[in-house]
Amino acid sequence: LDLLGAEMNEELYSTLKSKFGFNQFRHRQKQCILSTLMGHDTFVLMPTGAGKSLCYQLPAVILTGVTVVVSPLRSLIEDQKMKMKELGIGCEALTADLSTGAQEDIYTELCSENPSIKLLYVTPEKISASGRLNSVFYTLHRRGLLARFVIDEAHCVSQWGHDFRPDYTKLHTLREKFHTPPVPIIALTATATPKIVTDARDNLKMQNSKLFISSFVRDNLKYDLIPKAAKSLINVVEKMKQLYPGKSGIVYCLSRKECETVQMMLTKAGLSAEVYHAGLNDNLRVSVQKGWLANKFDVICATIAFGMGIDKPDVRFVIHYSLPKSIEGYYQETGRAGRDGMPSYCLMLYSYHDSIRLRRMIEEGNTTTGVRSMHLNNVLQVVAYCENVSVCRRKMLVEHFGEVYDEQSCRNSKTPCDVCERQRKNQEAIRLFDVTNDALSIMQCLPRMQKATLKYISELYRGSLIKKTSEQAVRMGHTKLPFFSKGQGMTEGDALRFVRKLVIEGLVHERLYSIPNQTAAVLAYAELTDSGKEVAAGRKQAKVYLHIVT
Ligand code: ADP
Ligand code: ZN
Repeated sequence: LDLLGAEMNEELYSTLKSKFGFNQFRHRQKQCILSTLMGHDTFVLMPTGAGKSLCYQLPAVILTGVTVVVSPLRSLIEDQKMKMKELGIGCEALTADLSTGAQEDIYTELCSENPSIKLLYVTPEKISASGRLNSVFYTLHRRGLLARFVIDEAHCVSQWGHDFRPDYTKLHTLREKFHTPPVPIIALTATATPKIVTDARDNLKMQNSKLFISSFVRDNLKYDLIPKAAKSLINVVEKMKQLYPGKSGIVYCLSRKECETVQMMLTKAGLSAEVYHAGLNDNLRVSVQKGWLANKFDVICATIAFGMGIDKPDVRFVIHYSLPKSIEGYYQETGRAGRDGMPSYCLMLYSYHDSIRLRRMIEEGNTTTGVRSMHLNNVLQVVAYCENVSVCRRKMLVEHFGEVYDEQSCRNSKTPCDVCERQRKNQEAIRLFDVTNDALSIMQCLPRMQKATLKYISELYRGSLIKKTSEQAVRMGHTKLPFFSKGQGMTEGDALRFVRKLVIEGLVHERLYSIPNQTAAVLAYAELTDSGKEVAAGRKQAKVYLHIVT
């Protein structure tokens, strides 16, 4: 601060007030702004809604020259451009759909004596593809008018992120091309685990950047989870409508088709719903967005394509009708709720089977083995989050980002998660069981059982088979297996959670088989993983515990 002096400090506050209409900086905003103003490379890690944009928009307004913002999506860029225009800040966007004439106009303005453009938004493709744009950058740089580069959604640079974009990996050229004098870079993201941050900093050649992290705890969000059943979605949406009249929420779906199915279901129940996914044409997309911002309907049924960058402060609920692809994704998507700080509701409608659907999509996708196994691992983490009944959900979410969290604060808050709420009501409700012996017994039998589903194994374990499988089980000798009926008295749900625990622990793997001519159906048969084989053979130790809600 001393470096910049009191005058600068005053200017920061006066611009904050006069241009953006805010009286105060939020947590870490000022530090980020000062860091980048001092010319440091700056890496900003803040949750969605924290106010990352101001960290580069305010410096852009204060300094002479042009700030170049690389942003992955056109919708995101359009949204920002509109906001900047409203605030009277010179802003243009170079996206693929712009006519050559319009592009030339922007280039001409940038090369003029005193460019009126303070913020120039570009997609990463533009930077790698356009020689013309690069020569404009050179001109600006030579004249000392290239104020800074902004890499928005910086996690897109990392293969380990949920949103990898190959064009982002070429952005390190910005550092290489514009080095004397160096143009400061500020990279921002809401979703980055420590691994991704390291990766992104390496990739963007900004290893020496100052890192600013603000807390990922979202106090106003209530995280909840219930099993997905036929009527659960409609019931919840109706409840939300009563609780938050005139407001709206998001229902996240796995696919476009599912968006449409869910929309029909809600409409039939007398609720108003629109769909939003990457398949909509431009007109429709814009009109849905507008209606959404104006609370014209109760629910938007969306794939994850929706929301990136669309800033609606009063989203009152986010419901996951299907499993998110990763914990990061879940945090990001639920983060769309309650940006205005008011209490909001985040519900996961959980069905284990959805993880199989997700896995199938991943296994059929054409990526490298490494990326695929990362995606599969992400799904496993989500399953672990959902199957969990004992650990605070907030804790699980923020600790995923490397933050330490004391679950007492969730327990004592106005919006405790479902786990903490249960604990608060009844301290004794959750009990821990050591199920290692039974787990071993099941694992040792697995190689002798062909085509066993987890459900079947759990039924054998409880000694409670339905008629159809019962005959088969006797014929195959499965009722004579040592673990048969060991779990008598356990509920169906707990027995299932037990066998799924073996999957979460990496001891058992379900191999997926498609059924010919039935595109939607898939069979999953349990087998031992390499680690499971070691444990079953007694060469490796593993303890298996199960929490049971009583
Ligand atoms: P992010 O990019 O981190 O998700 P945004 O930059 O879109 O967040 O900001 C989220 C909201 O917070 C916006 O509506 C923005 O206008 C508002 N905001 C940002 N900084 C401040 C501030 N200092 N005071 C009040 N509101 C702010
Ligand atoms: Zn909690």
